[in-house]
Amino acid sequence: MTQAKIGLIGLGVMGANLALNIAEKGFPVAVYNRTTSAIGDFIGGAGDLAGQLVAAETPEALVAALTPPRAIIIMVKAGGPVDATIEALKPHLDQGDIIIDAGNADFNDTRRREAALRDEGYRFVGMGVSGGEEGARHGPSIMVGGAPEAFAEIEPIVMAIAAKYQDAACAAHMGPDGAGHFVKTVHNGIEYADMQMIAEVYGLLRYGEDRTPAEISALFGTWDKGPLQSYLAEITTKVLAATDPETGKPMVDVIVDAAGQKGTGRWTLIEALKLGQSASTIEAAVGARSWSAAKDLRAIGEERLSGPSDMTASALLDADLESALLAARIIAYAQGFTLLAAASEEFDWGLDLSRTAEIWRAGCIIRSALLDDISMAFRDAPAGENLILASSFAQTLADCTGALRRVVSRAVMTGMPVPALASALGYYDTMRRARGTASLIQAQRDFFGAHGFERVDRDGSGYHGPWAMG
Ligand code: NAP
Repeated sequence: MTQAKIGLIGLGVMGANLALNIAEKGFPVAVYNRTTSAIGDFIGGAGDLAGQLVAAETPEALVAALTPPRAIIIMVKAGGPVDATIEALKPHLDQGDIIIDAGNADFNDTRRREAALRDEGYRFVGMGVSGGEEGARHGPSIMVGGAPEAFAEIEPIVMAIAAKYQDAACAAHMGPDGAGHFVKTVHNGIEYADMQMIAEVYGLLRYGEDRTPAEISALFGTWDKGPLQSYLAEITTKVLAATDPETGKPMVDVIVDAAGQKGTGRWTLIEALKLGQSASTIEAAVGARSWSAAKDLRAIGEERLSGPSDMTASALLDADLESALLAARIIAYAQGFTLLAAASEEFDWGLDLSRTAEIWRAGCIIRSALLDDISMAFRDAPAGENLILASSFAQTLADCTGALRRVVSRAVMTGMPVPALASALGYYDTMRRARGTASLIQAQRDFFGAHGFERVDRDGSGYHGPWAMG
């Protein structure tokens, strides 16, 4: 029995929508889910697309429904469930079959799985998929990692289901093994930073300027038509305009202010630190989510900790907030892309940063007007150049960092927390100085640990200061 072109395991939100997307593009899909009752429910609710779906009650039946070399997408909870699903499939597979993990995997797991499965004669593809439920159903941004010949086998399906930006598919083979999942992880890291910066500007307007959610929604709506145009600005406009049907209050006011996280932001930071990098805007955003969860501490802190409390009349200009957000967003992207460049060098992936920006222009959560400019900047820039040095962005930053400076300083003086905006400015100002303050750090390290240092006036390393002489 061979009825389907591709298999899919995991009919959660993402898997179910991805299966419908694939079916709609004309590729019959065999589907399996650990809890098998979900299979019938899914096909029963698939409407006209049900004819393109093949129900498989076991991993063995799923494999039997496909023509070799088979391609099977796994879209289950990341971590152990992916390994369990691979183990359940393996006894039924033939050499050369392709397993595609389309969940949010830790790229270290993807590298491990790819190597192990390659040794056993199977092919493993780590495929980052961004765009949430809507993207999975109608066109996500897709970042593929794995052997090029494995990608070639699935390319027609991947390109067909991906989001389109001016008719170009927002999907690409990023590099071998974990490259696709790494790019997806950093995408999510940038997403964390962008969301946090938007939330900080919301906080300044709401608690500093005493504006209503509806007024702030209107402002984001205006900004979404200019250089800040982005999916996140668009949904912020919608979210802030929404009213709770039960209480009639602004929806944002009835939501507990403690943010969740599933791990990709944290993974971005861990990998950044392992690579000797620091994506400070992403750190600030991940940290802010953790602080948001410390609700009890914050409640006590409001009573006991002193500081400026006159948050009103901080006199921030809307135009300054817009420019500040734009500058900070550019810096967050710059840090994310710097991290991608560092990983590409470390793992010898040959990542194309311009192409990466291109495939984020539609379908994914961080899609924004900026990405087209970023893509062009990387196309024209010398290899390895930081985005903030690209002439178009250096000019925008020259135009906008004055506003970022005014916003951050006003926030600091009125006691409003803006950790991500401030970290963006700190990065920018650090990168504006050819000579910084690490000479003192080196002197301290040498003083207490004889670590040695380099001198500005001589070659070589391992010099020591005259500390012992008192
Ligand atoms: P999810 O809650 O992460 O996963 C649900 C699916 O995983 C169900 O099919 C479930 O099967 C299966 N599963 C859970 N534990 C399992 C195990 N031990 N063995 C086998 N199957 C197991 O749902 P999701 O939101 O659709 O996400 C799927 C993947 O996509 C995740 O890696 C997620 O991080 C990633 N992702 C999600 C989004 C999003 O916006 N939600 C966006 C991009 C990527 P049962 O029905 O049997 O429980």
